[in-house]
Amino acid sequence: MKAVRELEALHGAQLADLAALASEPSNDAPDTQEQFDAATIDAIMRDCTPEQSWPKPVRAAFARESAARLENENQFLLILGFLVAMSSILLDMLVVPELAWQGAILRLMLIVPLTILGLVAGAKGWKQVMTVCVGAAPIAFVGVIAHLAAQMSPEDTTRYLTTTALVVGIGNLVLPYSLRQLVIFDVGFIAVAFGTLAFSTPYTVGIYLDYLLLLVVVAGATLPLALRIERLRRHNFLLALRAQAVSRELTQANRTLRELSERDPLTGMANRRYFERAFAKRIAQIGSAGDAEKVLSRGRVAVMMIDLDHFKSFNDTNGHQAGDQCLIQVGRALQRIFATVDGVVARYGGEEFIAAIREREDGEAARLAEDVRLAVTKLGGANAITTSVGVALSSSTVSLPREELIEMADAALYNAKRNGRNRVEVVEVSKPVRLTG
Ligand code: GH3
Ligand code: MG
Ligand code: MG
Repeated sequence: MKAVRELEALHGAQLADLAALASEPSNDAPDTQEQFDAATIDAIMRDCTPEQSWPKPVRAAFARESAARLENENQFLLILGFLVAMSSILLDMLVVPELAWQGAILRLMLIVPLTILGLVAGAKGWKQVMTVCVGAAPIAFVGVIAHLAAQMSPEDTTRYLTTTALVVGIGNLVLPYSLRQLVIFDVGFIAVAFGTLAFSTPYTVGIYLDYLLLLVVVAGATLPLALRIERLRRHNFLLALRAQAVSRELTQANRTLRELSERDPLTGMANRRYFERAFAKRIAQIGSAGDAEKVLSRGRVAVMMIDLDHFKSFNDTNGHQAGDQCLIQVGRALQRIFATVDGVVARYGGEEFIAAIREREDGEAARLAEDVRLAVTKLGGANAITTSVGVALSSSTVSLPREELIEMADAALYNAKRNGRNRVEVVEVSKPVRLTG
């Protein structure tokens, strides 16, 4: 893009015709979104930069991605937790039928409201409430289990309490929490488990020491795993972001290359390559057969060849530099004129320019050609310069291919030169040109 901007700075407003090029649809992210390049992401990955020190746009993108993921994950976990809690009622019925009612009522009173609150909070966008509910539900679950376990035979107590170690371990691995939040979750989990046991039975250190050890070991062993999962998630995110940045940069480089390849370096205006593409797209609008009628009904296509008169001697008299300046001035004038009629204009080569329009009314092309001739005459100042213009007009019933129109315009230009220069000659499809002289 830099090279293009430099060119633009150099040639100012004369790039009007290339505006169409720039306005073509691209797959880039909208300009309003903050951008980051692949090199930035590479540096983050190479230096293992902590998230707090990431550049703002990268951090913002991560926050956006996390927020979207968080809601889905929380919703999933709430529903899963709810199903597990409900199915454990069946387990109670099988293992400890005498406590099943108590267990069912406690779960319904604690787990169900927490699940519903979490889901409603998610739907309402209360993210923090939802996040708290997701962690609070398993903690409520362990409270119920501990309460029931305290009333069972020693073997059943051990069995019931052991399963809760699984809950704290899995919780550490799947809860979408930061390390700090996970530690709070673990401490809350263990505190509720022991608080309930202590509240429900005369607390004896010996009986529950094994259980405490188990919970601490499982929580302690899974926390580093949780950290590792989080690191991998960040790494994945950065890789995806890098791929995105690389693809955007490639698209942009491609566009820059195309813009440069379709621009004339001296005048900064479009070149012949651009003219051919723009002619097909904006003037001829080659489409399906059904379009042909519509296209023709929009007016006749005109192609103009504009060639400066005696430019060789202009160069000889005023110097090549002055010749260059003159070409730049002519280019500007042409772009100004054709911008008003939504036409396409380009430097065809040397001191020759080409333009195409679709007439909105009869005689428009001839009038424009005359405007061009007059504008060039006015440019010269002390070093007078004139131009000849050959105009080829397609008929209202036949749409000619570009090459044929150019050939006709060339022939008309040839006539203009023969007939004394500084003049416009028009040739129409129905009235073939006759070469004179
Ligand atoms: P005619 O009226 O018949 O068109 O005569 P002419 O002298 O304009 O035509 P000719 O084809 O003999 O010469 C074209 C000249 O344009 C020769 C060349 O030096 C000049 N020219 C072509 N490109 C450039 C350019 O980029 N810069 C400058 N300064 N001159 C150029
Ligand atoms: Mg010439
Ligand atoms: Mg020439």
